[in-house]
Amino acid sequence: MTQKSNTYDVIIVGAGSVGVPTAMALGEMGVKTLVIDRQPSPGQGENKKAIGGIRAKHSDPGKILACLRSLEIFSTWKERYGDNIEWLKGGYAFPVYREAEEKALKNILPIQKRYGLNLDFVSPERIREIVPGINPDGLSGGTFSPDDGSASPLRAVNAFYRRARSFGVSFLFREGVSKIITVKNEVEGVVTGKGTYSAPVVIDAAGPYSRELTRTAGTDIPVTPDSHEAAITEPVQPFFTCMVVDLRPGPDSKNYYFYQNRLGQVVFCITPEPLIVGTDKRETSTFLPQVSARMVNLLPRLKNLRVRRVWRGLYPMSPDGAPLVGWNREVKGLIHATGMCGQGFMLGPGTGEVVARLIRGKRTEDDKVILEGFSPYRKFGGQESLK
Ligand SMILES: Cc1cc2nc3c(=O)[nH]c(=O)nc-3n(C[C@H](O)[C@H](O)[C@H](O)COP(=O)(O)OP(=O)(O)OC[C@H]3O[C@@H](n4cnc5c(N)ncnc54)[C@H](O)[C@@H]3O)c2cc1C
Repeated sequence: MTQKSNTYDVIIVGAGSVGVPTAMALGEMGVKTLVIDRQPSPGQGENKKAIGGIRAKHSDPGKILACLRSLEIFSTWKERYGDNIEWLKGGYAFPVYREAEEKALKNILPIQKRYGLNLDFVSPERIREIVPGINPDGLSGGTFSPDDGSASPLRAVNAFYRRARSFGVSFLFREGVSKIITVKNEVEGVVTGKGTYSAPVVIDAAGPYSRELTRTAGTDIPVTPDSHEAAITEPVQPFFTCMVVDLRPGPDSKNYYFYQNRLGQVVFCITPEPLIVGTDKRETSTFLPQVSARMVNLLPRLKNLRVRRVWRGLYPMSPDGAPLVGWNREVKGLIHATGMCGQGFMLGPGTGEVVARLIRGKRTEDDKVILEGFSPYRKFGGQESLK
């Protein structure tokens, strides 16, 4: 029997941080895959809102393992495939000024080391070397993981897209999926404004819109969008390379983080407290004064930098800060690859491979750890320390 042209092995809804690398992994395995996105090109959802930080320094084993693989992919991409994705191995520094953060960071060191992470709690002198000009008053040290880094989310997603295309993966843009088709609680495909596409497996990689999408299949998952703002400065001579994460709370905010990218621009964002739930992406007038006061206090030499652009995007937030990845138990053929919170760019490539192996029934021992931690059916009691 000849296969109909609108029939695939797998349909992925969402060509973002997760959907595109997942498509690349499936394509490489020879799985006939279609990716559909309502945006005009790859990564135009939340992917391009990310500031590009990539770390394996987490406290959750699943995140550590998924991001270790992502780091391998990002850091070797240029030498393997030639595209410049602006990978910069600058490391991640968490400077410490208070006992609370020192305790929290030291508590998770054993688990981080158990999973082979190259990091340590270092002296204040070392932090001052890594972040020249950092405020020394009360600085008691911090953790530093030199193998973490950053890359350009748009360049990376486009490199993954080209590679997925080279394996024969099909992409449709400017098509919104209005419904996941199910018959007797089994996936049969999707409907868009332009047509109907069939597949026995549909992957929900819709990020902040996952709940809305998967409700059309009669299921409900706890992924809620909340908004975060970021900004980028003019380029200046490089003077530090690591991502600096200040975990201390401040006025109406929790942590904030920033780094200087390959082009010399300082990129930064902050976590509002309380979280701003919803899909509003209009920039606010509160963000810049709030975050810049905190940054200049931490690193006074930033004070003369001019900000070029501010933007606001969404985290696909889960109740405990960890992703939701795995088969839906009520709807056969539906896989969730969502709930990435503030880490979908770094989790994307590693998680994409796990999802591809899950579909092919070829899970590795690491995959089992990841899938257990990311199970959509886990208890959402705990909170991840470094979310
Ligand atoms: C300010 C800010 C800074 C961040 N910094 C970082 C960082 O440094 N490092 C990091 O790892 N992460 C960071 N993130 C988080 C990261 O951006 C997200 O976790 C990640 O992009 C989520 O990936 P995703 O694939 O789930 O969603 P997306 O990348 O948004 O992809 C989902 C896609 O699905 C499409 N879609 C949704 N519904 C439908 C539908 N019904 N039909 C068709 N298409 C649909 C959307 O158009 C979108 O393209 C940051 C986020 C923000 C807002």
